[in-house]
Amino acid sequence: MHGWTGEILRINLTRKKAIVHEFDANFAQTWLGGRGFAVKLLWDELKPGMDAFSPENRLILAAGPLTGASLPSSGKLVVAAKSPLTGGYGDGNVGTWACVNMRRAGYDAIVFEGRAEIPTVVKVEDDMTEFLNGEDYWGRGVFETERDLKKKYGNVTGVVSIGKAGENKVKFANVISQEGRGGGRPGIGAVMGSKNLKAVAIKGTKELPAADMPELKKLGFEGYKEVLAKPSYRFWKRQGTVSTVEWGQENSCLPTHNFREGVFDHADAIGGFAMEKLKVSNRGCPQCNMTCGNVITDTDNESVEVDYENIALLGSNIGLGDLKKVAHLNRMCDDYGLDTISMGNMIGFAMEASERKLIEDRIDWGDFEKARELIERVAENKDETGRLLSQGVKYASEKLGKDSGNWAMHVKGLEISGYDCHATPGMALAFGTSLSGAHHKDAWVISWEVKYGRESYDQTKVDKIIELQRLRTIFEALTTCRLPWVEVGFELEWYPRFLKAATGLTMTMEDLYPTADRIYNIARAFWVREFGKQWSSSMDMVPNRWFIDPLTKGPLKGAKLDKSRYEAMVQMYYKKRGWDSRGIPTKSTLSKLGLSDVAQELGQQVQLTA
Ligand code: SF4
Repeated sequence: MHGWTGEILRINLTRKKAIVHEFDANFAQTWLGGRGFAVKLLWDELKPGMDAFSPENRLILAAGPLTGASLPSSGKLVVAAKSPLTGGYGDGNVGTWACVNMRRAGYDAIVFEGRAEIPTVVKVEDDMTEFLNGEDYWGRGVFETERDLKKKYGNVTGVVSIGKAGENKVKFANVISQEGRGGGRPGIGAVMGSKNLKAVAIKGTKELPAADMPELKKLGFEGYKEVLAKPSYRFWKRQGTVSTVEWGQENSCLPTHNFREGVFDHADAIGGFAMEKLKVSNRGCPQCNMTCGNVITDTDNESVEVDYENIALLGSNIGLGDLKKVAHLNRMCDDYGLDTISMGNMIGFAMEASERKLIEDRIDWGDFEKARELIERVAENKDETGRLLSQGVKYASEKLGKDSGNWAMHVKGLEISGYDCHATPGMALAFGTSLSGAHHKDAWVISWEVKYGRESYDQTKVDKIIELQRLRTIFEALTTCRLPWVEVGFELEWYPRFLKAATGLTMTMEDLYPTADRIYNIARAFWVREFGKQWSSSMDMVPNRWFIDPLTKGPLKGAKLDKSRYEAMVQMYYKKRGWDSRGIPTKSTLSKLGLSDVAQELGQQVQLTA
């Protein structure tokens, strides 16, 4: 077997034991890597209905056959677990040297189970795993933790860690690396905290496995050159994802005031051109020449890496039109290990709840000091409001009652990423059917949809969403960053060439679609197994606000989604996917994907359609 190391390191934190499991070519080719490995292991090893904070939950760090090689943007690590926020499958990807080192240490994945007795740092160096006392790090921010571990173990060490939010099991705590690269929105950092695992430091010195290393290196070199030659590359290097603020404003989809509106009066002050005036440098993930992290200084003159999602959610969505202040909130979230998208949603929700007098706190739109306080109260589980908001917007709205469920912006419990969908039914469906809840990373269809036509709820849109979900799942499995393809037009044809040089397998992107479908379907089966008879198509519903509160401003004033047409589109989506009217994969769909065993087990929870 080439391309994969063929080894998974399994670490039991309760027993302080590490053992190596080998896997074969069949497992590798069936699940590819990254998300594919993670979801398959979680399906096989978790008991349905278990508490996500139980020691039995698994925390999985997984890479794919392209990870760590000298190829465009291949420095990504998938982090996954049963999500404490949604109760379903949860994952995310982090740009980190930890993945490069993990592969060089000889592992395609590390699976943590159990719970350490005391706060612990796990250090993996090639074949050696150590369990280090992490008590000194507990309570410290991720920036300091990572710097200190690198000082001790060398700058080349890859580190992923959690901040206080993960320690306090805030349900949208994530995993952070390299001072600002975070992943695992559905509370993967909280799962890490529940295991008393503060950080993982990895160092590897072995050769990466490849079928044809000279060819892989040559292709990598050519690939980097091709990325550099793309016409949009220079502008991308200037603004990265931040130019989406201006695009969102022009197209009425910049989340504003808790997704009430799609335009923001101060968009110019937080957009790409405003950012350029403050910019001091670019930062990025390993092996990437697109380095999309734009570093600016915040109100304390500290360096902060900003991108579109953070600015949209911690800026316009909370009514804050000052980029240095937005950067400050961003930095606080990063150091606490809080997901910025969910935290921005929570602040927006709290501001609206305050306006409607559903909470006692007075938190006005755009109030920077109150937003700062709120981040601290949530991360540190400080008081009643902090504790309430630390559980996510779905839980908070269920507790507050009244009509707050209408403007609690989430799908399946995961707060919405930075796109308002009052006028984009396709993007709404992409959020509705994303594999982990409302996450843009599974099908960012909105830019295509705006060009294609926003008004329709048709089959073409459904087909496009599924095509993008397939492609993006392939990226999550390979595991490499999708942005060269999405943002500068680096052609998809490169990836089968990379895959062949890495693994020896000859496959087109379309040949990988069944693998993507297998991964998507087992993830769906995971959700259904967790929810059992409670599962219905309502799980794929998007927030009621988009159906009932029309936009009151901007060029699309008056726009809102049509609920019955959205529901019809959901059914079209199910049909195309081979799912029944509840959104559950049919037996025949599962068996075509080689998942008859999954069908058999799922059939014990819910009645499956033939
Ligand atoms: S494009 Fe951005 S997110 Fe993707 S690998 Fe490069 S720096 Fe990381």
